[in-house]
Amino acid sequence: MKKIKGYKYRIYPNLEQIAIINKTISCCRYTWNGFLALKEFRYKEFGEKLNYTKMSSILTQIKKTDTFLTEVDSTALQQTLKQLDNTFTMFFKGHCKFPRFKSKKNPRDSYKSTTIKIKDGKIYIPKVGFVEYSNSRDIKGRVLSAVVSKSATNKYYVSFTVDESSEQLPRIEKEVGVDLGLKIFAFTSDNEKYFAPKPLWKYTARLKKLQRKLSKKPSRASKNYEKLRLQIATLHERITNIRNDFLHKLTTKLIRENQSIYLEDLNVKGMSKNKKLAKAILDCGFGYFVQMLKTKGIMYGRTIHQIDRWFPSSKTCSCCGYYKADLKLTDRVFECPSCDNSVDRDYNASINILTEGIKSIRG
Ligand SMILES: [Zn+2]
Repeated sequence: MKKIKGYKYRIYPNLEQIAIINKTISCCRYTWNGFLALKEFRYKEFGEKLNYTKMSSILTQIKKTDTFLTEVDSTALQQTLKQLDNTFTMFFKGHCKFPRFKSKKNPRDSYKSTTIKIKDGKIYIPKVGFVEYSNSRDIKGRVLSAVVSKSATNKYYVSFTVDESSEQLPRIEKEVGVDLGLKIFAFTSDNEKYFAPKPLWKYTARLKKLQRKLSKKPSRASKNYEKLRLQIATLHERITNIRNDFLHKLTTKLIRENQSIYLEDLNVKGMSKNKKLAKAILDCGFGYFVQMLKTKGIMYGRTIHQIDRWFPSSKTCSCCGYYKADLKLTDRVFECPSCDNSVDRDYNASINILTEGIKSIRG
């Protein structure tokens, strides 16, 4: 559930900072008025609806000549274009009047930015710097955007829009690679292994037995059939609960401990040999695991990255990079003929996933 809240603080910028804030406000007004005129012109002349993306690239061009625009918070100008675009959309839907030009004489004015934050007991505004503020209450949650405004009495404020649905975790340095498998569910580059809970296997065997029984019962109307069906449904539910509980705990642990989590793109592993039902249940677990990580990643401000599915994470030596083409599925230990590295197969893969992931993100 999304919970959006606003927080408004009075800020106390010095004279120099006031000058930059005022300059940003006028640059936003300049951008608004310029693009409003341009949009109007393009629409009347060519029937073209200049959208945000197009305006954004035009703005980049304009900045080359109107260099004063580069001296203020660039996200403020972007937000101005977004607001203009929204106003036009609303206008075309008949929800509001045609957008108006902004006057310099307006004593109350503001601009929106996505990079303003609270740091070390002060509010940080790009290009303006750290500003003192009166903190009436602490922000809980993730800051989405902020508006810097000036009142008619020349007082300055920052209003934050905050997503309180979840609290972001503080940034950390640690990263991890995770190798997923059938035997060991997850093996991490921290040399930790996580087994899927045993009942999952026990129940899977029992489930199979029940399903075999059910397939032999010809009459759907019989009492026994209904009894069996219910038993199977209950077992499915129990398996799902155990699996989800396990996945929730594992994903939360990984998210808490790491800023970035690197995984393989699934479906490639030699899973075909395994029994159908067990495979189906675990496959489903893998998919759900990745989905859960991604959702929690967004909630808590962590990055989840899947590496290229053709990257040979198992057959590469994590020590020297040697490619061991003849590595068999039964080889539990990776022994490198090139550098004498001898390491657990899955551990080796997880280290490779980590290094490959970092490489693909940072080049
Ligand atoms: Zn090696």
